[in-house]
Amino acid sequence: MSEYKIEIDRDTCIGDQLCCNEATNTFAMDDDNIAKVINPTGDPADTVLAAAKSCPVDCIKLTDQGGKQVWPEA
Ligand code: SF4
Repeated sequence: MSEYKIEIDRDTCIGDQLCCNEATNTFAMDDDNIAKVINPTGDPADTVLAAAKSCPVDCIKLTDQGGKQVWPEA
């Protein structure tokens, strides 16, 4: 189960669905072909991190329980 707070910058997302393919239980495409979070605890944390890292435009931001930004790396 992911422990990350997940935020997607909708203005930056280019709709290539890579995050959805990586973490299928966490991300999905909305009606505007922009990624959205369907279940923040849908996949293991390392799967969510891999999905965020797969994003070519780094528009998935992950924050841990302590409020530290995990991805993108600062
Ligand atoms: S990987 Fe990034 S650009 Fe691609 S759909 Fe997901 S959030 Fe959007």
